[in-house]
Amino acid sequence: MALRPYIVGNWKMNGLRATLAEARQIDRAAARYPAVEVGIAPPFTLVHAMAEATQELRVGGQDCHAKVSGAFTGDVSAAMLKDAGAMFVIVGHSERRAMYAESDSDVQAKADAALIEGLSVILCVGETEAQRDAGEAEAVVSAQLVGSLPRGEGAAARLAVAYEPVWAIGTGRVPSVDDVGAMHRAIRAQLLAIYGEEGAGVRILYGGSVNAGNAAELLRADEVGGALVGGASLTAESFAAIIHASA
Ligand code: PGA
Repeated sequence: MALRPYIVGNWKMNGLRATLAEARQIDRAAARYPAVEVGIAPPFTLVHAMAEATQELRVGGQDCHAKVSGAFTGDVSAAMLKDAGAMFVIVGHSERRAMYAESDSDVQAKADAALIEGLSVILCVGETEAQRDAGEAEAVVSAQLVGSLPRGEGAAARLAVAYEPVWAIGTGRVPSVDDVGAMHRAIRAQLLAIYGEEGAGVRILYGGSVNAGNAAELLRADEVGGALVGGASLTAESFAAIIHASA
């Protein structure tokens, strides 16, 4: 089954209202490639404005709290994201796992909460360099999937998985196409084992130093259904080139 390519920008802690001009340009680029699904996860402060300012883009959050509301200073719930115009949320990004000590079960609770609120989910997994060097990459990713994939009824239909080797994020280093393909095949096998046939429809994105120059090659690897893009999603020029490469 050919899945519609999904290209998603993760703006991390970047972007002011002035940056919405880039989002508008990316929106126009997305309109030229109807076969590609394009999303951006800006910082929370821009979710509403970006959703209002764009038509084709799916706008999403970069994280959410697992609870709907309450005394959680600084946090934002999935319900709030949805209310602001978000259609999806990224959960389990390695920066959140590392800097905020998010465990697999924390990530799973966030994914479940997001699905209950009607958002779709991009769940991130990936090994560190030391884990890859030790030959543990597939085992680490497999354990993250088992521990953090949402299990509610119909979860697979609104899920994407992003494989992001930690050592490739923001470094300019990328795994070989063979290594990407091998990991994505392993992830697919696990999705089928967990979700049955529905696991075949879950897009598996590659993330980590994707740019206009390497996107076409990475996107050709086995079972790569799109890309999660950090730095290269911040300007319309480079992000549009990645969208083009996926079409
Ligand atoms: P990068 O980030 O493209 O800047 O490496 C990817 C990510 O963290 O999602």
